[in-house]
This record gives sequence, C-alpha cells and structure tokens, in this order.
Amino acid sequence: MAQATGVRRETSARGYEGHLLEVEDLHVEFRTPYGVVNAVNGISYTLDPRETLAILGESGSGKSVSAQAIMGIIDSPPGFITRGTIRYKGRDLLKLPESERRTIRGREISMIFQDALTALNPVFTVGFQIGEMFRVHRGLGKAESKQKAIELMDHVRIPSARERVNDYPHQFSGGMRQRVMIAMALSLDPDILIADEPTTALDVTVQAQIMELLHVLQAETGMGLILITHDLGVVADVSDRLAVMYAGKIVETGNVYDIYGNPAHPYTEGLMSSIPRIDQKGEELNPIKGAPPNLMRIPTGCPFHPRCPYARQRCVDEVPPLYEVAAERRSACHYWEEVLSPKEPISG
Ligand code: SF4
Repeated sequence: MAQATGVRRETSARGYEGHLLEVEDLHVEFRTPYGVVNAVNGISYTLDPRETLAILGESGSGKSVSAQAIMGIIDSPPGFITRGTIRYKGRDLLKLPESERRTIRGREISMIFQDALTALNPVFTVGFQIGEMFRVHRGLGKAESKQKAIELMDHVRIPSARERVNDYPHQFSGGMRQRVMIAMALSLDPDILIADEPTTALDVTVQAQIMELLHVLQAETGMGLILITHDLGVVADVSDRLAVMYAGKIVETGNVYDIYGNPAHPYTEGLMSSIPRIDQKGEELNPIKGAPPNLMRIPTGCPFHPRCPYARQRCVDEVPPLYEVAAERRSACHYWEEVLSPKEPISG
C-alpha cells in the first residue's frame, strides 16, 4: 500500500502496540417524537492492528449505529451518545473537539458503505473523486492526484485503471464501484477501516472477490478492519473475531470458527440454522421465529426471550451478563452450557 499511495503516515497502524480501538459500555439513543429508541445498549469490544472483527446482526441490532458513533457521524439531535467511551490509540474520541475528530475521520478511521452508487457523485469521474482525497487532505496538484488515483485503482484491482480513470460511476459495475469506494477509503492510509455491509448489493461471486480484496489490503497495510454484516457466510473466511449483536447488545463474542462450529447463544444458533451449509445438504433451513424487538420497548430480562426456544422464567426476570464460556469467548445467555451441549449428529 505504501508504494500504491505514497502517503503512509509515520503513525500508521503497522507496528502500533496495544489496542487500536477500545469501545467500552457504549450507549446510543435516538429521541424521536414517538419515544426514545435505544439503539445501542452498552457494547464493549477492542480492535488490534491487523485484526478483523466481524459484527453480525439483523437490521436494527445496533451494529451500524455503533460504527457511526465511532466515526462521529450520528446526527444529533435526534441521536445521542449517552454513556461510554471510544478510545482510539488511547484517546477518548468522545472527549475530542470536533475539529480534531474531523482530522481523524477519513484519515485515520475510514468507512465504506453498502451502496456505492449512492455514495459516489454521479457528475464527477471516479478519478476526480479518488483524487480529491489527495487534493484536499494532502495538498497535491491536479496531475499528481490523478496519478495517485490511477495507482489506487490499480491497487484495488480495477482493470485498465489508466483508461478508466475518466469514466463516471454509472459506467462501472456494482463490484467495480465498490472497489472505487475502497480505493477512496484507503487513499489516506487509515489505521482502521469500517466496512458497513460492503457487499450486500453484490452477487455472491463478487462478494467473495471484494472480501478477498479487503483481506489482502489489510495484510499489506496492517490496519484493523471492522466488517459489519447480517450475513456470516460472507465474512467467516476473512474474520478473526466475531461479535453477534441483538437489540443493541453484544450477545456472543469469540473466535469466528469456534462460534461457527458451536454457538453458545440461542440467537447465534438461530442465525446459523437459517443459512444454507454445504455439510447439511438436503436439510430444511430453520429461521428464527418472530421479529426483532421494538427498540422503544425492549423486552425485560434477556431481550431475546420472546423468540428463544430455550427461554424460561429466569430469562424474563434477569438480564444475562456476558458469561465467560471459554478463553476469549463470551455469551449473554443464562443457559449457555445447554446451548453448547452436543446436539444430534447430522445425518447423511
Ligand atoms: Fe434464551 Fe434465556 Fe438464554 Fe436469553 S438467557 S438467550 S432467553 S435461554
């Protein structure tokens, strides 16, 4: 990446010792005319250099809002961070003046969004839009910025970058547009890249290509990567750790393969049984019953209890803490041992 952009910062993630990011007890709410939406309800996690953390959950689980809180792009009002800390390289972002946050945003912590077509400006060429990062943030001239844009397009594997640098977003396929977004996000050599459902609008083959590209670029730059998704199938191969969110809380966290192999929370188990698996050919998918809760009226006790096949009275009465299930593995379920216990062997 250093050769591609030529803008590696001396303080970049490579070689940084300690957590790049520490989110602790983060709470976010939206005050609407209809009531308070409790979108994020006390989440904590860390991210290290070269690490990929996947945050998994249905829509409305709070995964995107927590990322927006890190970026400092929650509209306020109606959104408010009511509690918690977000430390980036030891500094609490929530205590920094907006001018300092602006310097960090985009340069040191960058984000790519789901819909590249909406995020890109249709009236400017992709080369101009990538080059703008260098003009605005690095003070490079027009020709130099264009050259950097070509190098970055090349780096994110856009074929014939030199010929395509003057094309407009609508002349690119969905996958190529997402590569343009990745190029823009990486242009300033961020320490942390947050990818919010980066492949949702793409077909499966292109999804895999984009994930592989992010994985390769991360290995080259040493950045920490947060992948936000509702689809574990897409991120399992490229993630180190997984945090599963439900009703604004992390309900299970651990190594991605441990969780994939044997979930310790009924919600994760439900998510797993609702996706097709190659080792369960011919078996019926088993979606989770019911719908996610209304975040203005989160159920008492464990918020998953109205949908949980393991639920009993204790679940209605007592909020489950994040129990330590194994080293580096936690589950917010009173009955995690039962959930983890061996199930009927898969037939066939
Ligand atoms: Fe289900 Fe109870 Fe565990 Fe919640 S605490 S996930 S309701 S068994």
